[in-house]
Amino acid sequence: MKRVLVTGATGRTGSLVVKKLRQREEFQAIGLARSPDKVKEMFGSTEDFVWGDIKDYSSLEAAVRDCQALVILTSAVPQPKGTPQPGKRPEFEFASGETPEEIDWIGQKNQIDAAKKAGVEHIVLVGSMGGTNPDHPLNRLGNGNILIWKRKAEQYLIDSEIDYTIIRAGGLLNERGGVRELLVDKDDTLLNHPPDDIPTSIPRADVAEVVVRALLESDARNKAFDIISKPEAAEDAVVTTDFASLFQQVNSKI
Ligand code: NAP
Repeated sequence: MKRVLVTGATGRTGSLVVKKLRQREEFQAIGLARSPDKVKEMFGSTEDFVWGDIKDYSSLEAAVRDCQALVILTSAVPQPKGTPQPGKRPEFEFASGETPEEIDWIGQKNQIDAAKKAGVEHIVLVGSMGGTNPDHPLNRLGNGNILIWKRKAEQYLIDSEIDYTIIRAGGLLNERGGVRELLVDKDDTLLNHPPDDIPTSIPRADVAEVVVRALLESDARNKAFDIISKPEAAEDAVVTTDFASLFQQVNSKI
């Protein structure tokens, strides 16, 4: 049984990963969270959860001990700034201490360092498409440069000598998984040139399944790729069930 630490386990995708891993006998899933109350509300119990903050390296050292794999699903989250004004574009900000630099760079670096020290064999990191364009609108959100800091952490992982799988998702949807064809490519090709102009999005449930399969399939190792889905009702869609083939479509190098 592989012991896997999932960070961001109270997040919308991280919680799905924990639940999916717990349905499989190959894994013991340990969730890292900040709030026992939130865990109780979402999972009904705090069993197999550990408490920590990704800015606190020592909490990560304790959390990742004896784990063979780490799934990184933490993220800085922009908050609406002030009261929305009619006719004006809403503004966003990051809470003090929760900026992309602190969460998506330092916090992810802390996780990778703690995992390396503990001898973790494989890290699966969920990031975002758009990282090849420094002028991407997401970087202007709250002046956070979020995609730039995420990309820096991805490169740190690639250079860490730990086996990695970097999943750069398109826009995340809260829709059911397992009913769409998934498309992979690299370097924002899908974002800039989506086939048939389909939306560049994917359900969180499908991303969670890709994380689980990445932990199982050797073809997912040492790969970084973008992923979106064809719309559920797309006429030409062939629902993705063979994840080894999906991972084989990605070349090994970033
Ligand atoms: P999410 O719901 O926003 O979850 C973020 C998680 O990070 C939460 O569990 C949060 O914990 C945790 N976290 C934040 N700061 C932390 C800290 N200091 N210590 C410990 N945990 C901390 O995530 P999501 O929307 O599912 O997104 C998953 C990933 O996909 C993210 O990397 C996101 O950027 C990326 N992505 C998103 C989109 C999109 O359309 N939104 C598109 C592409 C990629 P708490 O519950 O305690 O706050």
